[in-house]
Amino acid sequence: MRERIRRFLQRPGTVDLGPLRVHVVRANELEPSVRDLADADLGARAREARSRGDLGEFCALMREGARRALGLRPYDVQLLGMLGLMDGRVVEMATGEGKTLAGAMAAAGYALNGRRVHVMSVNDYLARRDAEWMGPLFELLDVSVGWVGQGSSPEERRQAYSRDVTYAPVSEIGFDVLRDRLRTEADRRVVPEPDVVVIDEADSVLVDEARVPLVLAGAAGVGAADPALAEIVRSLRARRDYEIDDEGRAVHLTSEGIAAVERALGGVDLYAGGDNGVISAVNVALHAHALLKRDVDYIVRDGKVQLVNESRGRVARLQRWPDGLMAAVEAKEALVQTESGEILDSITVQALISKYPTKSGMTGTAVAVAEQLREFYGLEVGVVPPNKPCVRADEPDRLYATRGDKENAVVAEIVKAHATGRPVLVGTLDVAESERLAMRLRASGLSCVVLNAKNDAEEAKVVAEAGAHGAITVSTQMAGRGTDIKLGGEEVARLGGLYVIGTGRFASSRLDDQLRGRSGRQGDPGTSVFFTSLEDALVTSYAPDAARMSFTPDEDGLVTDKRARWTVDHAQRVAEGANLEIHRNTWRYNKLIELQRGVLLEHRDAVLHGDAALREMTVRCPARVEELTASVGEEAVARAARQVALFHLDRCWAEHLAFLADLREGIHLRVLGRQNPLDEFHKAAVAAFAELLPEATARTAETFETVEVTAEGAALADAGLRRPTATWTYLVQDNPFGTEADRLLRGLKNRVLS
Ligand code: ADP
Ligand code: MG
Repeated sequence: MRERIRRFLQRPGTVDLGPLRVHVVRANELEPSVRDLADADLGARAREARSRGDLGEFCALMREGARRALGLRPYDVQLLGMLGLMDGRVVEMATGEGKTLAGAMAAAGYALNGRRVHVMSVNDYLARRDAEWMGPLFELLDVSVGWVGQGSSPEERRQAYSRDVTYAPVSEIGFDVLRDRLRTEADRRVVPEPDVVVIDEADSVLVDEARVPLVLAGAAGVGAADPALAEIVRSLRARRDYEIDDEGRAVHLTSEGIAAVERALGGVDLYAGGDNGVISAVNVALHAHALLKRDVDYIVRDGKVQLVNESRGRVARLQRWPDGLMAAVEAKEALVQTESGEILDSITVQALISKYPTKSGMTGTAVAVAEQLREFYGLEVGVVPPNKPCVRADEPDRLYATRGDKENAVVAEIVKAHATGRPVLVGTLDVAESERLAMRLRASGLSCVVLNAKNDAEEAKVVAEAGAHGAITVSTQMAGRGTDIKLGGEEVARLGGLYVIGTGRFASSRLDDQLRGRSGRQGDPGTSVFFTSLEDALVTSYAPDAARMSFTPDEDGLVTDKRARWTVDHAQRVAEGANLEIHRNTWRYNKLIELQRGVLLEHRDAVLHGDAALREMTVRCPARVEELTASVGEEAVARAARQVALFHLDRCWAEHLAFLADLREGIHLRVLGRQNPLDEFHKAAVAAFAELLPEATARTAETFETVEVTAEGAALADAGLRRPTATWTYLVQDNPFGTEADRLLRGLKNRVLS
């Protein structure tokens, strides 16, 4: 093992976990001596070993605990992974290596040292599964554990977060933090001060999800999107009336399109006058029509639009796009429009994670993002070798000229493999593709199970069966991630193990590797291969020149031309670069907002937990304070001042966020004036923030002078000052609309040119 470990540990760009090996070696020596300890002593001994810094003994005790409580004796590499996590690293361990156990032992290690630990998962199912699965280990060690899911009540959440170790999806923790920020009573905080975080599927959370701010919004009336506009844009023709940019992120009307819309609206001139309202509405409707695809970006279920999370291919409950877009999609699907609202606050995954003084993570694909983890989080990657060498055969891509040829080849390959009884797992790019493929397979007389964002409750159970003899499982990219696929016995192993077929390369090679990794776990045999075509969205979006290449495919459409094959890798690298740029950009703009939020929250805390508001009002409105104190008493006055101040602080912050969002949209216009957009943004944002606290105080004083105050506090609602009746959360791509300004400009340009 030593030799193998040494080879693995010295990958460039990663830290060497080698020095931790001595502890594992010592754990092996100590193993017999801890066998006779009483159950009740294990936790105390582990705590004591940890505090003495005797990590060898600590490893031995953890191994013994896991063996007794879970019936799993941790492999050496799992102990190594645990030590890496306890060292604050992102450890790379392949799929099926047992990261759940390594993570739980590390969490226990932190907890036994008096720390409070969050284990972040990528979804509800995994948070609960892992907390319950690892529960007996924690119990044996006398460490308390809980879990949070989308359906948890506030009380259940508070309970779960009060435990030593809390398992929760990253989005739930983020949304709980957001909701906590808006609390108006001092004792209502749900999430305690962040301390230690252990992140499962760390690359997914820290890189893929990091681009997506988590948003908390409040109800503010009914959203409006004109169904007539949805009708009008439906009648437009791609390329003639509108053009989609290469990356499929933005769409704009051509001059023909503008003319068609103007005609349909009854001969108006869209660009006459200063009112952009109609143009924006048209653009949002067009975005909903042309860029958001049913069963790819969203599904319609129970009469509602539900988003599909891009990086995971799963439905995100209670999450929505920014309002205009949500309403436009609802209009497009002719659904009843849901309530619209305003952003109350938001947080990026990166800002959320950065609040933890101690961070660590685990994933099968960390090395590929080692640089980003260092740049954005100051985290180092350490590689843990597999328990048994991986013998999976990763075959070269099979590239086809057209999508049709590719799909034919995929079906033929599945039929061929299935005829031998070998289990096949097919990874598709989206829901629509899964269903198309399933239909073709059924037409060829094969039965298959389709896993996609539509049946996410069942997918874990189903994907666990994907290794059974003769099974065909079709799955969108990350459906069932985190679920172990065991081979259906010796016979399946003889047939070559699980055969993983990707129907297209993902936007990141990491996601390709995640799919491949579903096969060949713990030294199992297995094969993986990707079928690609020059018509795949990845290629047409990120390497559009490919369309002009000349080569001759064979009669089945298979392309062997070297340059064409290179194009696919190239497109993927461009896509990875584009996503990295989006991440950087999100962060650049959010850094300043985060600073301002910090200042605001500090002030808000002083109001919430103390008498800062009363003191302010005593200076501003002394007569009113005196009058009220005489009638309702000092405590009620202080409460009223606090309520009014919190209301206006939260309002002013929501307005500030709306201002910043507009500012960012408008900034791109200024780029034309050769100013640096980020500098411009900073200047304006700093100036606006300087006004925020004085403005909130002024409004507070104004309300305080007139609002009715009783022993219960201030009658805010009677004064027309209502907090949102409902809040919901959603995720946004950094720039979901493309930029409004960009499109407006392009629209104008087209007119000028026409
Ligand atoms: P990963 O998250 O690394 O993909 P999991 O934590 O889901 O892996 O574990 C994969 C499988 O390995 C599970 O079925 C688990 O029961 C099994 N496993 C984990 N650790 C051990 C061990 N020490 N001995 C035997 N089986 C183990
Ligand atoms: Mg896992």
